Amino acid sequence: MLSYSKNLDYNIIQIDTGYLRQGLAACYLVIDSGRVAVIDTGVEHTASRVEEVLREQGLTTDNVDFIVPTHVHLDHAGGAGKLMQICQNASLVIHPFGSRHMIDPSRLIAGAEAVYGKEGLHRSVGEIIPVDRDRVIEAADSYRFMLGSRELLVIDTPGHARHHFCIWDEASKGFFTGDTFGLAYPELECDGRSFIFPPTTPVQFDPAAWHASIDRLMAMHPERMYLTHFGQLDEPVVYMNDLHRRIDDLAALALDHDKSAADLDLAASVNAYVNQELTAHGSKLDKEKLGQILDLDIDLIVQGLQVWVSRQRESE
Ligand SMILES: [Zn+2]
Repeated sequence: MLSYSKNLDYNIIQIDTGYLRQGLAACYLVIDSGRVAVIDTGVEHTASRVEEVLREQGLTTDNVDFIVPTHVHLDHAGGAGKLMQICQNASLVIHPFGSRHMIDPSRLIAGAEAVYGKEGLHRSVGEIIPVDRDRVIEAADSYRFMLGSRELLVIDTPGHARHHFCIWDEASKGFFTGDTFGLAYPELECDGRSFIFPPTTPVQFDPAAWHASIDRLMAMHPERMYLTHFGQLDEPVVYMNDLHRRIDDLAALALDHDKSAADLDLAASVNAYVNQELTAHGSKLDKEKLGQILDLDIDLIVQGLQVWVSRQRESE
C-alpha cells in the first residue's frame, strides 16, 4: 500500500496529489472492467503517483480512458496536460467553459503567475501542458459516458466557478464534487462530524448559483461525496444546511463590510467567523495548527469575497 493512496469501496482509489502539503488536495481513480477514469488531476508531479497506483493495481497508463478535472482551477486541473501526455488512450472530459483553457493554458498560467509568482508557480504546480484539441470532450450538463460497464453522469454546478461540474457515479451513489460541496479537512473532524465550508475563491463566486447547484446534487440522494479537499464524506444530507448557511454568512459578512464606513479588515472578520464556527463545532485545535490547515483557504475566501462584492457594487 502506498503512503499517499487509499482504497475506498466501489473500486475507487483516493490519491493525495502532493499539492503544497499532505492532505490538501486529492484526486480519484475510478476503475471498472480494467478501465480507469482519473477525476481531478492535482498538479504536474501528481502524474507519477497516478502511474505508481495504477502499477500497484496491475494496470498501466494505457488503461486510462478518461481524465476529468471538475474545473480548471490549478489544484484540480494543473496536472491534466501531463496526465494526457502519459495516458495515450485517454480523452479529457471538461466543462465547455473550461476547455479552451486546457487547450491553450496561457491565460491560466498568467493568472497563476500573478498569484504565485513565476518561480512559486513552478515549485507548487510545475509545468502546465496544453491538451490536444482532438482529445477534448466538452461535457455539458447531463452528459453521460461509460467507463467499462459503469456510467458516469455530468451535472453542471456553477457557484464556486462557472466552469465547474460534478460527476455522479451510480455504482457508489456518490458524487465527485470538486469544490462544489465545500471543503472538509479530516483534521477538523470532531466526534466523527466533519466541518464543511465553502471556498468562495476568486473570481466567479456566485451564491445563488451555488445554492441551486447544491440542491441539484442533493436531489440525486447521494450517499457519499468524494471531496477534492479532502476525502470521502458520508451522509452529505447532514452537512448540506451548514454549507448553505456558511455561503450566506460569508456573503453577508462581505456586504456588511462594504457598507460600513469604518475601515474594517475583512480578513479579520472572516477569520473570526471561521473560528467561531469551529468552536461551536467543538474543535480544540490550537491556533498554529488551524493556521496550517486553513490560512491558504481563508486567504482565497477573502479575495473571492472582495471580487464578488465589487461586482455587486458595479451592477447596482
Ligand atoms: Zn476551485
